[in-house]
Amino acid sequence: MVAGVGGVSAPGRVLIDRRRIAGRVDAMASEIEREYKSCRDAVLFVPVLDGALLFAADLIRRLSLPLQLAGLAASSYPGAATTSTGQVELGLFRVDVQGRRVLLLDDILDTGQTLATVKEALRQRGALEVRSAVLLRKQRETPPVVEADFVGFEVPDCFVIGYGLDHDGRYRELPDVRVLDQDNMI
Ligand code: 5GP
Ligand code: MG
Repeated sequence: MVAGVGGVSAPGRVLIDRRRIAGRVDAMASEIEREYKSCRDAVLFVPVLDGALLFAADLIRRLSLPLQLAGLAASSYPGAATTSTGQVELGLFRVDVQGRRVLLLDDILDTGQTLATVKEALRQRGALEVRSAVLLRKQRETPPVVEADFVGFEVPDCFVIGYGLDHDGRYRELPDVRVLDQDNMI
């Protein structure tokens, strides 16, 4: 444990610090802007909640594009679990996506089940195009079932927290991405 923000201690060790995150999010914003600058209609940005909240907030403030924002809740890690159940539960999504260009934002791409499930749901509702941007992509033995179009950082296959990522609902507010080792898992 080390001292974190506001005197609260943060577990694990820093994997990607806040400066590197900020630099990479800047670069991703430029890549995304280039891709979409010729679109006449507002792109619909869909952060996968709650994990993508911080990434989405930082990314969209760097963009100069006509865009709309509509979060979608998805979960596949019940409670203190550190491996996915493989079953993705989606929350309510009331936005009309018919004919829209959608960019999904997620904190981390692991098995790819979350992005695959959300993509399929939006396509079924008539989205014209569904692409995705993830801050982190786990380097797994088995590749994810879908790839992301924009990736911030490749990370080792371990459980990470901070900058939106939680463990059992905690640590999302930590400004750096940290690796939670076995000793820190309750
Ligand atoms: P996937 O469906 O690709 O296996 O997993 C994606 C979702 O699982 C992410 O949106 C994230 O919420 C969660 N997840 C995957 N790996 C991690 C991790 O290392 N740490 C945390 N906190 N969440 C993870
Ligand atoms: Mg998530």
